[in-house]
Amino acid sequence: MKNTKGQMDFSRRKLMKFGAGFLGTATLASVLGINLTNSKPAIAQNELTCDQALAKLMEGNQRFIQNKRMNPHQSLEYLQSISEEQKPFAAMLGCADSRLPLEAIFDQGFGDLFVVRDAGNVATEEETGSLEFGTLVLGAKVIMVMGHYGCGAIKATLQGEEVPGTIGSILAQIEPAVKDFQGQQEDKEALKKATEANVKYQVNKLKQSSVLSELIAANQLKIVGGYFNFKTGEVTVVS
Ligand SMILES: [Zn+2]
Repeated sequence: MKNTKGQMDFSRRKLMKFGAGFLGTATLASVLGINLTNSKPAIAQNELTCDQALAKLMEGNQRFIQNKRMNPHQSLEYLQSISEEQKPFAAMLGCADSRLPLEAIFDQGFGDLFVVRDAGNVATEEETGSLEFGTLVLGAKVIMVMGHYGCGAIKATLQGEEVPGTIGSILAQIEPAVKDFQGQQEDKEALKKATEANVKYQVNKLKQSSVLSELIAANQLKIVGGYFNFKTGEVTVVS
């Protein structure tokens, strides 16, 4: 990265526009009027505790499984009512798989979830930064890292063959988490265990963020793993 002064100032200005910058967490917190060590709410914070936010997700998933979806917050009228401000109660790092629409799985709508997705739900720098924004600035109280049944990114990593383009950069992020399962991509049980191992690995990677770990220490955030079963529609917490 070439950090000439001009580029740095530009990036910093851009980031400051949405409330974050190349500042220490403490400075950032004071800019935003938050005292992280004092458990004071972040700006635009919802009223939920971390446990309540997680429970709200799991209740929504139960409604989905039981065919009792309420489809909340999905009208144009609701979108208009929150057009100037968002207060998502939960944030997600989910796989990009087309069978993982998180609002549907958790029976939520506009403004409820701050969602980051990529193949293999890997916590790269950009994903981590996005989740710092979703929690510190927007006030999401829980981050769920979500893996799923039959994940292609995990399978490809276990297979270990050469892949085209820049796909390998994703597999490289998963590799350290699943090395015990190398070559077992056809074994469904091993694939599930590898997927869960990757979820835990990415959760731990997120916890290395100073912003996220300070929020956790201040009881403003919980980071959990999840696994979505395509056969049952159920999300189980991976711990
Ligand atoms: Zn996947």
